[in-house]
Amino acid sequence: VKLEGGSMITTLSKSDHSKLSRKVQIERRLLEALNRNDLHVMFLPQKDVKTGAITSVESLVRWEDSVLGTVSPEELIPIAEETGLINEIGQFMLEKSCEQAAIWQRKGIPIKVSFNSSIREFRDKNMVKTIRKVLEKYNCSPELIQIEFTEKFALEAEAEKAIVKQIQKLQQDGIVFVLDDFGTGYASLRYLQMLPIGKLKIDKSFISSVTQHEKLEKLVQGLVQFGQSLDLQVVAEGVETAEQFELLKRVGCDAVQGYYVSLPISAEEVEEML
Ligand code: C2E
Ligand code: CA
Ligand code: CA
Ligand code: CA
Repeated sequence: VKLEGGSMITTLSKSDHSKLSRKVQIERRLLEALNRNDLHVMFLPQKDVKTGAITSVESLVRWEDSVLGTVSPEELIPIAEETGLINEIGQFMLEKSCEQAAIWQRKGIPIKVSFNSSIREFRDKNMVKTIRKVLEKYNCSPELIQIEFTEKFALEAEAEKAIVKQIQKLQQDGIVFVLDDFGTGYASLRYLQMLPIGKLKIDKSFISSVTQHEKLEKLVQGLVQFGQSLDLQVVAEGVETAEQFELLKRVGCDAVQGYYVSLPISAEEVEEML
């Protein structure tokens, strides 16, 4: 594992200093953690609204460091993206997701596994090869794998032909691409035409107070209908209450995930849920 950059700034305020030292520490410890294989994965179950079945899980990275304690993805991922270590995290999550999907496939458990990806991983022109190799290694069908990226990713990717090509190839292999955090502030939806997206995930910021504001309910209903009119599967994330679930069912949302369904859990716990 190689660390990129590493340039130091010379003039800093005191608060910048403590932030920087934490960041530098995370960088260093993360590099070691990756070499020691010290990261792990939790799975967030997703429930089909009509059937009530758990149809897929989202792999989420977890890191408990002996010195830094738990480092949340909210803190970890931006630092990893900046330093390039996101490619190592991505490789790890790809391996774990394919491995688990293949295990469930062999056990006859029909669960798909999705994982998050950053645009920087797709700037690697070997991404298609890498993914195909890992699928082969675990004997995992591409149809069992879903790759999530954010609207911000989609907007940037639109201008990068090589990335669009890689995504198209993987989609033709049978991998489903999921547009994550849908609705969070990007006006252009042109990327929906450029990229072979199969599934929309409505951001949890819309869901958290959806039962309190009629306008928000209308908006969510609109997002669901919009997605379905484009033949996309629509998922709501951050569903925490029965009221939210009932509302989403009423407006025709296809699937939900969130603490109402389950916290992120281990693969064994996922099986116990079935
Ligand atoms: P995300 O992809 O939008 O993931 C959903 C986040 O919401 C997860 O936090 C999940 O634990 C949390 N969550 C799930 N259900 C609920 C709920 O009902 N209520 C609330 N308030 N939160 C809920 P987590 O695991 O901390 O991940 C945060 C973000 O970090 C993710 O957002 C994703 O963007 C990023 N991330 C996590 N793992 C990876 C990874 O392996 N690779 C990359 N590139 N990004 C990752
Ligand atoms: Ca996600
Ligand atoms: Ca999300
Ligand atoms: Ca998010």
